[in-house]
Amino acid sequence: MRHICVLGSTGSIGVNTLNVVREHPDLFSIKALTAHSNVEILAQQCQEFQPELAVVGTATAAQALEAQLATLSLKTKVAYGANALIDAATLSSVNTVMAAIVGAAGLVPTIEAAKAGKRILLANKEALVMSGDIFMSAIKESGAELLPIDSEHNAIYQCLPDANTSNGGSRGVYGDLGVSEILLTASGGPFRNTSFEDLQKVTPAQACAHPNWVMGRKISVDSATMMNKGLEVIEAHYLFGLDSQFIQVLIHPQSVIHSMVRYVDGSVIAQLGQPDMKTPIAYGLAWPHRIDAGVEALDFMRLKGLSFEEADHHRFPCLALAYKAMEMGGVMPTVLNAANEIAVTAFLDEQLKFLDISHVVEETLTRFKTHPANSLETILNADHEARILAQEAMKGMMQ
Ligand code: NDP
Repeated sequence: MRHICVLGSTGSIGVNTLNVVREHPDLFSIKALTAHSNVEILAQQCQEFQPELAVVGTATAAQALEAQLATLSLKTKVAYGANALIDAATLSSVNTVMAAIVGAAGLVPTIEAAKAGKRILLANKEALVMSGDIFMSAIKESGAELLPIDSEHNAIYQCLPDANTSNGGSRGVYGDLGVSEILLTASGGPFRNTSFEDLQKVTPAQACAHPNWVMGRKISVDSATMMNKGLEVIEAHYLFGLDSQFIQVLIHPQSVIHSMVRYVDGSVIAQLGQPDMKTPIAYGLAWPHRIDAGVEALDFMRLKGLSFEEADHHRFPCLALAYKAMEMGGVMPTVLNAANEIAVTAFLDEQLKFLDISHVVEETLTRFKTHPANSLETILNADHEARILAQEAMKGMMQ
C-alpha cells in the first residue's frame, strides 16, 4: 500500500495524481495534500480523500480552509507555511511523496522527503535542477527511491535495462549498461513554426496553448521558450549520470515517443504512449508493478506518422542557455532557474515580451559570480541573489 503526500495537489500534476489514486483505493491512500492559495479545490480534495494534514501558503488561506472543512466535520489538520510543507512531506504515515509544486518553492520539502527515505515521485524538475548532486546524495544516503514523473525521464527510465531494480533513479548509465546516448524528445511547443519576428508579439494565452499537453501556466511558457527542454537536459544529467554531450534533444511534434535510449550495439529503445501524464504518474505510484492509468490505448492505425527535426537554437535560445549553465556548473543551474522563474512571471503578467525571457536569463547568468553548490544553504542564497539580479536585468526591458 502506498501512503501518499501530494505536494501541489491542486495543480495539473496534483489533480492527475488524484485521478489515478481515485481508481485504485485498494493500493493507495492519501495522507497529506498541499496547495498554495487554491482553497476551494483543496477543500473538495480533503472532503474526498480525508487526509491527516492539509497545507496552504498563508494564514489567511489556512483560516479559509479551516472554515470550509469545519462545515464538513473532517478530522484533517490544517497548517500553513514552509515548515508545514516539510511536515507534510515527512509525515511518519507517508511512504510516497508526489513532488508536484511548481518551481523553486518545491525544493526544500522535496529534499527533506528524500532525506527521510520516502519514495519520491519527481515532477518538480526545478528542485533537481537547483540542487543536483545534493539531491542525488540525499537519495543515496537515505536509500530513498526516486522515480521520474516528467514524461521524458519516465520514458528513459523505462528504456534503461535496470528499471526493475530497487535502486530508484540514482544510476550512472555509462559503461556496463552499454548506453551511448539519451534522445530527449520535445514537441517544439506552440511556436515550433513561428517566425522570429512573430515571436516578439506572442501573448501569454498563446504561449499557454500547448498543442499536445495540458499543463500549468509556468511549464507551458517554459515549453514555448524551450526552457522546459533545457531544464530537462539538466534533470537527465543528474538523474541518469550522463554528461551533456550524451543527451540529445530531438523535436518530435506528435509527442508519441516520449524519449529514447541509444545503445552501443546499434539498438534504440523507445517508450511510446498517449501524451497523458496519468501514464508516468501511474508508473511511479505502482512501481515496480503496472496498473490501469485510465489512459486511452495508442492506436497505431490512426497515427499520421512520426517525424523528427533538429531544435532551432536561434529562435529558442533558452535551450542553449540551459546547456551553458550546466557546463558552467556550481550554482549556475540554480541561477538559470531563478532568472527564468522571474522572467516567466513577468511575461505572464504582461510586463515582459516573450523573447525578453531569454535576455533576462542570459543577462543574469553573465552578471552572477559563480561558485560551487556545496550546501542547500548556498543554493538557496544563490537562488535569492539571482532573483534580485534578474529583477535588475529586467528593468530596461519592462513593457
Ligand atoms: P501547476 O501550476 O498546475 O500547479 C502547481 C501546484 O503548486 C499547485 O498545487 C499550486 O497551488 C502549488 N504552488 C504554487 N506555488 C506554490 C508555492 N509558492 N508554495 C507551495 N505550493 C505552491 O503546475 P503543474 O502541475 O503543471 O507542474 C508542477 C510541476 O510538475 C512543475 O515543476 C512542472 O515543471 C512539473 N511537470 C508538469 C507537467 C504537466 O504536465 N503539468 C509535466 C512534467 C513536469 P495553488 O493551486 O494553490 O496555486
